[in-house]
Amino acid sequence: MYNGDIMALRCPIVSVLGHVDHGKTSLLDRIRTTRVTTREAGGITQHIGASEIPIGTIKKVSKDLLNIFKADLSIPGILVIDTPGHEAFTSLRKRGGALADIAILVVDINEGFKPQTIEAINILKQCKTPFVVAANKLDKISGWNSINGPFITNFNEQKQHPNALTEFEIKLYENVIAPLNELGFEADVFSRVKDTTKTINVIPVSAMTGEGIPDLLIIIAGLAQKFLEQKLGLNVEGYAKGTVLEIKEEKGLGKTIDAIIYDGIAKAGDYIVIGNPDGVITSKVKALLKPKALDEMMDPRDKFKPSKQIVAATGVKISAPDLDMVIAGSPLRIVSKSEIESAKEEIVQEIEDFEITLDDEGIIIKADTMGSLEALATELRKKNVKIKKAEVGEINKKDVIEATSYAMSNPYNGAIIAFNTKVLNDAKVEIEKNDVKLFEDKIIYKLVEDYEDWIKEMEEALKSDELNKLTKPAILKILPNCIFRQKAPAVCGVEVLYGTLKVGSNLMLEDGKKVGYVKELRNNQQETIKEAKVGMQVPISIDGSLILGRHAKEEDILYVEVPEPEVRKFYHEYKSELRGDELEALNRYTELKQKVENNVFWGM
Ligand code: GDP
Repeated sequence: MYNGDIMALRCPIVSVLGHVDHGKTSLLDRIRTTRVTTREAGGITQHIGASEIPIGTIKKVSKDLLNIFKADLSIPGILVIDTPGHEAFTSLRKRGGALADIAILVVDINEGFKPQTIEAINILKQCKTPFVVAANKLDKISGWNSINGPFITNFNEQKQHPNALTEFEIKLYENVIAPLNELGFEADVFSRVKDTTKTINVIPVSAMTGEGIPDLLIIIAGLAQKFLEQKLGLNVEGYAKGTVLEIKEEKGLGKTIDAIIYDGIAKAGDYIVIGNPDGVITSKVKALLKPKALDEMMDPRDKFKPSKQIVAATGVKISAPDLDMVIAGSPLRIVSKSEIESAKEEIVQEIEDFEITLDDEGIIIKADTMGSLEALATELRKKNVKIKKAEVGEINKKDVIEATSYAMSNPYNGAIIAFNTKVLNDAKVEIEKNDVKLFEDKIIYKLVEDYEDWIKEMEEALKSDELNKLTKPAILKILPNCIFRQKAPAVCGVEVLYGTLKVGSNLMLEDGKKVGYVKELRNNQQETIKEAKVGMQVPISIDGSLILGRHAKEEDILYVEVPEPEVRKFYHEYKSELRGDELEALNRYTELKQKVENNVFWGM
């Protein structure tokens, strides 16, 4: 703790991430209820939005492991953020990265990696946050004899049935270590890790039985101490710096801010300086509040007690006037009056870092917090998606109207991507009426993937639309004994030698003379058809100048006339869309045109 002149180490901040149902909440609950025995000192201090596990408690529950690891721990404890998941993790930012100093990635050892596991790793990588993997639900391994205590002692005592051990090793490797390897990480069970700077520590745990929790706590504390001491400065220095976790209406207090303070000291009566997208808000702190312990609570409505001073790292509820415009994820400082200006400058800098550069045209993105908006924008940028508007908040009617207008100049811009935020009813009504595509999800990479799929679908639809409008090349031969009518319209039987003959196509003779267009095609049952493919023999009626017997006779060849710009389009954009015989028809037709036009570049 801070004693006035000697700088003390602060608690490292720990976040829990992982796929849904893999046990994040259960693991957090387990960690929070870690207690030695009721008679012994220690236990957990409840903060606002976070729980502190004092180092004394960690040392006690892990006392058998201290010998194994010979850990020399001087941090005061660890502060675990109460809200698990990557939404909370990305919301809680500070300048230069994540607020959390270290993360626990929870993976169900029986299920292995899932989409949110991979997304969590991507986010951790992006924020350069070190992490350990808690391979949870160890108790579900068939035959595993799970205990409420250290995994490593349970494992070393060799009380497990050989089949259970085999299953454990297989699942550990296949479901946890191999997928980590695939993502470029070396990983192993913590007891086998030799160099913690190179290898990810995997801690087998059971949130249900409590197995492995001591191991997890000691590894987290040890790693945080070892790696982060110099790097992130676990020293408590200067005024309080923090991030807004949530804005909450409290009875009798009005709007309050729940914040995590990651550095410094704040005093009651100080000033609060908070960034929001429109600028900086300054207000005077009415009270710094901490939760009351259950036994201090006379009345359940009276849940908080004021503190004269708070020291990082901690969670705190701040009561102050004029907090209406504050949004979750905003940076904040708590300072004395003389420090307000320098704090403001710092905050402005920090918001600028957060700012997402917008494009002249593009889509709309919205998210619940500044951190998640930034994470979403980063992922979209990686895929070269253009962003015209990026805001924290709910999707409203105005967003839809704007997206509709963006779509008018470019259909690909008619999209709104919403991460973990609500769509208001009037916006829903507007979406129904307009050509706007809404993407909603709590998984960033799912949003990016869905948006990309939509773009692909649109591109394909546009492509096939254009392709359908092009004149298909075809070459035909007039069949012997099949001239049924000489002219206006001429009717005869033809065989399609190459390509696809479509109703409406213009026809020409081998000398280049235009003779009319295909008025009608029939099949052998005398039903009218729209097209005839290669090899088909069909009756055809040709309207125009053609007089059979005079301009063309039996066995003569007719070509479908393809306009030159369309020939070019086929060669340059749609060559792969043509069947072999269609391409042959096109090549022969082009050669003929080059000859009759006396131009070797025709159609090229
Ligand atoms: P979250 O969605 O990641 O927060 O997962 P929860 O903590 O809500 O857990 C999902 C389900 O898995 C719940 O039914 C838990 O009781 C169960 N669960 C969590 N941890 C364990 C564990 O270690 N062992 C077993 N058998 N079940 C667990």
